[in-house]
Amino acid sequence: MASLPHSPITGAGDPWRGAEPAPKQTAPCLPGAPGTSKAGAIRARRARRRAEPQGKMPRCDTGGAARDSTWGQVSSGAAASGAYPKRVKVVEVGPRDGLQNEKNLVPTPVKINLINMLSETGLQVIEATSFVSPKWVPQMADHTEVLQGIKKSPGISYPVLTPNLRGFQAAVAAGAKEVSIFGAASELFTQKNINCSIEESLERFEEVMRAAKEASIPVRGYVSCVLGCPYEGKISAAKVAEVSKKMYSMGCYEISLGDTIGVGTPGSMREMLAVVMKEVPVGALAVHCHDTYGQALANILVALQMGVSVVDASVAGLGGCPYAQGASGNVATEDLVYMLNGLGIHTGVDLQKLMDTGTFICNALNRKTNSKVSQACCRL
Ligand SMILES: [Zn+2]
Repeated sequence: MASLPHSPITGAGDPWRGAEPAPKQTAPCLPGAPGTSKAGAIRARRARRRAEPQGKMPRCDTGGAARDSTWGQVSSGAAASGAYPKRVKVVEVGPRDGLQNEKNLVPTPVKINLINMLSETGLQVIEATSFVSPKWVPQMADHTEVLQGIKKSPGISYPVLTPNLRGFQAAVAAGAKEVSIFGAASELFTQKNINCSIEESLERFEEVMRAAKEASIPVRGYVSCVLGCPYEGKISAAKVAEVSKKMYSMGCYEISLGDTIGVGTPGSMREMLAVVMKEVPVGALAVHCHDTYGQALANILVALQMGVSVVDASVAGLGGCPYAQGASGNVATEDLVYMLNGLGIHTGVDLQKLMDTGTFICNALNRKTNSKVSQACCRL
């Protein structure tokens, strides 16, 4: 059986499945400006809503959101001071890492619309799909249609996952300009899923790396299970560093360190990064945090403090992990952008448009958003 980062290959249930009733919101999502009464704020919001054009999908409360996007920000003088990077590149992985965990097939036009909406938010990187065998992940069987159907905006990269040379060739034929490969830091995880050692699994990528080099296609590398493995438990930082170094040496321009099952804490993240950064330059590292134990934002914050400036996230917190009971998807992009805005860190991402995109995909999937920011601001 093949392994994909966070794919539902074990067939385990998705703990999120099932539509949940929309929560009734009876008060403004956030406190009003000083001196504004609660009743006044409700009246003002109703007036705004009446003035808004009625779209097909429910929109976030834009009046509130105008405040929301700046609510947690520091004054400009204090922004981006200290050890934090001034800019963070947000890598949106919802259309791939998120949707591949959906049990029901998501219609191709929904996927295309999702990516097109994400393209309007200011994101620079949107992982579009996976060129994997439909036998492994039926959800990604429409990879060619998706990649060819989306509107590719200038300046935005749309990488796709390519597990082998065949997938790589199909991806390039469909117009892919960037690809991703994946390894894991756990021997047992690799053994159980693809029946080989980590070393052997990486050797299999060498032909993809060679072909990518010939075609001048940049390759991003994922390392799964960096802070814990569903089979092995704790993973040594030295092992993560070893695998990361190998993938970097193979030619991956960026290594995304994945807490696949979301068990890490700021402590284990700090410890792991300190070791990995001795082998791979921090400028080539990204973090990919699932929020299973509610630690994703805290873990990302630690990574930022240590100089990491690339963070993976999934709109509406789409996704899940089939290996951990009650596992959550990636950190929600909305929540990440809200935190980065609050730190005065530039992302170029429009939070309101991001929340609208989250609303679209949650309506299409008939599920509740996993973004705390959207839950606070939207009527989902
Ligand atoms: Zn993931």
